Amino acid sequence: MEYIYFEGKLVPENEAKISIKTNSFHYGTAVFEGIRAYYDHEKDKMYGLFFKEHYQRLFQNMKVLNMKIDESIDQLVDITKELIRKNNIKNDIYIRPIVYFCDLKISPKLIGYNAKIAIYTYPLGDYIDINQGVKAVVSSWKRLNDNMIPPRLKVAGAYVNSAFSKTEAILAGADEAIVLNEKGFVSEGSAENIFIVRNEKLITPPVSDDILEGITRWAVIQIAKDLGYKVEERHIARTELYVADEVFFCGTGAQVSPVVEIDHRSVGDGKPGKITKEIQNVYFKAVKGKIEKYKNWIIEI
Ligand code: PMP
Repeated sequence: MEYIYFEGKLVPENEAKISIKTNSFHYGTAVFEGIRAYYDHEKDKMYGLFFKEHYQRLFQNMKVLNMKIDESIDQLVDITKELIRKNNIKNDIYIRPIVYFCDLKISPKLIGYNAKIAIYTYPLGDYIDINQGVKAVVSSWKRLNDNMIPPRLKVAGAYVNSAFSKTEAILAGADEAIVLNEKGFVSEGSAENIFIVRNEKLITPPVSDDILEGITRWAVIQIAKDLGYKVEERHIARTELYVADEVFFCGTGAQVSPVVEIDHRSVGDGKPGKITKEIQNVYFKAVKGKIEKYKNWIIEI
């Protein structure tokens, strides 16, 4: 039986139910996180990745949506560890905390309601391919902007935009979408940040280009700099994708995923790039606690 953190305690899954009248379900006003924990077979241990950072981002999101819950960030970290232990998990998982307005009331607003948090886990290997490389298409759907539904927030309603672009990409025979913002610059994938490599320099859109401020994006920047690469945060024009030496996606789910084709044009020589693979290699070691310098990214469960 699987346990879920719901209304202040760990309960069996069949007891973690919300009403059809729940306010956030109607208006998409829930904020959530996607966190990973990895299982190390050799040590027979689970390692949680960036637990605190994800809950800090969740609290920033809650602040913008005017939500308050009873639990603190440190308590949520402990609850998540307890949840994993209680479920006796020994494989790579995704953890989904979600904060929602629980009132059974009609009206889309951010005041006068009560918020609650639920946390559950599910097994997750690779969300998208990390070995052969993925095919991407530039989406005809534009990214939301900060004055509509801020992409900085992991807010449920914003993922309608992701769903449009991801679906379009799949129907076009690709694996992922690359979404441009209203100004026409590259923002990100449907659920991952993007980097391009040109002349051994990494380039990624700035946080003001309608992206989610990805935690993996931050980690990749650290790794790249530590490997001695220059990293530039600036606008990326669409055709730079076509002429880039390498392109990759990154995210908690996506991890580090090479892009080998964009809009039917091969990226570089059509194989995962050298620098992408170098970063990927360090990333996968780091998330399993094998690199001393990055040990503070993970916690033992
Ligand atoms: N952009 C979007 C739209 C996402 O949903 C995600 C996944 N959370 C990311 C980027 C990557 O963010 P992170 O590295 O924090 O998982």
